[in-house]
Amino acid sequence: MKPKAKKSPKDSMRKKQRVPALFIGHGNPMNAIEDNDFTLHWQQVGKSLPRPKAILCVSAHWQTWGTLVTAMESPRTIHDFGGFPPELYQAQYPAPGSSWLAGEIRNSITGSKVGFDLDRGLDHGCWSVLKRMFPAADLPVVQLSLDYTKSAIEHYNMGREMANLRDRGILILASGNMVHNLERVEVSHNGRRDFNRPLGFDWAIEANNLFKKLIDEDRSAELADFHSLGHAAQLAVPSPEHFLPLLYALALKQKGEKITYFNDKLLAGSIAMTSFIIK
Ligand code: ZN
Repeated sequence: MKPKAKKSPKDSMRKKQRVPALFIGHGNPMNAIEDNDFTLHWQQVGKSLPRPKAILCVSAHWQTWGTLVTAMESPRTIHDFGGFPPELYQAQYPAPGSSWLAGEIRNSITGSKVGFDLDRGLDHGCWSVLKRMFPAADLPVVQLSLDYTKSAIEHYNMGREMANLRDRGILILASGNMVHNLERVEVSHNGRRDFNRPLGFDWAIEANNLFKKLIDEDRSAELADFHSLGHAAQLAVPSPEHFLPLLYALALKQKGEKITYFNDKLLAGSIAMTSFIIK
């Protein structure tokens, strides 16, 4: 009889230290300062996580030609939105940066050149969520840009190269919205867009359900080919930037890990707040 292969102590140690990975539907920037069911869940998730060594954000709101990673000591809080109340512009997330983590990311990604960015900072896709999850802002945060020149599957493959960071105490937060069509947002009778209105158009519900089914069945390559997933998916992803972080999150999933959804709701007709944790 063949002896069973034993797990090496190194393997079990790795698994023990592996930090969960997150995909967050970030939605309205006001979530940074406004309490609601979504932000309550963000707070709960933050409290439930083992304390990571540092955080890597992949946000929909930083697209560049080539791949960049923030490497400054103190990244700025960027208020990259318009038309919100002054309180939101005063909100800060003064987390330190980490040139160490920036270097680790550069070393992990062997398939692409990764440049260091020294003056940008953290955009709201990153800090509006972290402000609720880790309000003390005492963990180092680094952000990775989305390279315009890469195809969706190339983004996914780059995510796979970063999966090892989870075994070294790094929390990876991918922040976008799997259904995100601002052109189609429902306008109320007073002519204003109400981003908090609990409403999902039929096509948005269909796309949200389809994406979850493909996620649950580990069909990431099909998700990366989102243009071929039919009319509902095309309406849900009119441009790739809010969808690509989802592919990064899925690329981090290891064998035997489970996905647990939260905030699985549609807003304003055409935005899904659907989020999940991988562990
Ligand atoms: Zn956004």
